[in-house]
Amino acid sequence: MLDGASKAFFNLLAHSNYLKKLASRSGMRRPTSFARRFIAGETTAEAIAAARAVEARGLLQTLDHLGEGVASLAQADAATREYREICEAIVAAGIGRNISLKLTQLGLDVDRASAVDNLRKVLDRSDAAGFFVRIDMEGSAYTEVTLDIFETLWGHGYHNMGVVLQAALHRTETDLPRILKLGARVRLVKGAYKEPRSQAHQNKTDVDEAYGTLMERLLVDGNFPAIATHDERLIARAVAFVRERGIGRDRFEFQMLYGVRPALQRALVARGFKVLVATPFGPKWYPYLMRRLAERPANLLFFVRSALEG
Ligand SMILES: Cc1cc2nc3c(=O)[nH]c(=O)nc-3n(C[C@H](O)[C@H](O)[C@H](O)COP(=O)(O)OP(=O)(O)OC[C@H]3O[C@@H](n4cnc5c(N)ncnc54)[C@H](O)[C@@H]3O)c2cc1C
Repeated sequence: MLDGASKAFFNLLAHSNYLKKLASRSGMRRPTSFARRFIAGETTAEAIAAARAVEARGLLQTLDHLGEGVASLAQADAATREYREICEAIVAAGIGRNISLKLTQLGLDVDRASAVDNLRKVLDRSDAAGFFVRIDMEGSAYTEVTLDIFETLWGHGYHNMGVVLQAALHRTETDLPRILKLGARVRLVKGAYKEPRSQAHQNKTDVDEAYGTLMERLLVDGNFPAIATHDERLIARAVAFVRERGIGRDRFEFQMLYGVRPALQRALVARGFKVLVATPFGPKWYPYLMRRLAERPANLLFFVRSALEG
């Protein structure tokens, strides 16, 4: 993970319409184009093929139809319809029934009530077919409203969903027991967004330390927690911790991102751990790609080289 300055830089790039247009033209054009390393494709058919390939390697997968910050109710409705259609396609394909989504994709920035309604529509469709739905966590301006909506729908009996907590945020220390009390499934991540000092740890050592502490709490008290990191030190700490505490390998899973540390993903599966790969797809991949670049400068070289080739 990079420091705040790099995150801020890529956050700026993420909002550049010029770069977005430029990247969108060449990023997915050829099988070797740069965005394909992290994005499974632009269509549902491509995503399903990628998901099958992930499953063939003994990994689990969740499909994440990219899109965030929609600016109108019509766009939010379209995203909701797309998610319902993706669920149909997943069922027809016979792959694992697991999806991830963002509330701003369903209209949270436009109208909260409509976003809740849209989420309910996705949950209704997916619940009937035995799906698990992960609500991704966005920047800290959305943390409270996301948890609030999650708790409300949980209280209405929607239990086929889980949430994400970010170790970088100071508030996660109190959010974790709040979600544990519900018995809901938590995915623990470090946090991909540029956050102010008042909200979040600013250096990697502090984030990693917070992650380790929260992770151990989650492994003891959580309902099938997701340890979502590519950090080998933290993964080794989790492995040692569960061994020491006698926590079975069926009681939690590791999660990683499509295209990130594939050898580590396979090595954990070979050792008998469950590993789920979050598999993003769709034409609106640009902001997601910028977050992946922000995490690792070496990716930028790869990005520039293949953009020039393209
Ligand atoms: C399944 C999953 C779901 C996620 N969902 C969310 C979410 O909802 N909200 C949110 O804010 N964040 C989410 N994230 C992102 C997360 O917050 C981190 O930004 C990201 O995982 C990088 O942190 P790390 O834990 O891997 O540790 P880091 O310390 O950043 O990385 C550890 C090592 O992993 C490798 N690595 C990490 N990132 C990359 C990369 N992009 N390219 C190549 N190698 C890399 C490098 O070898 C690095 O040294 C998710 C992550 C995963 C795995």
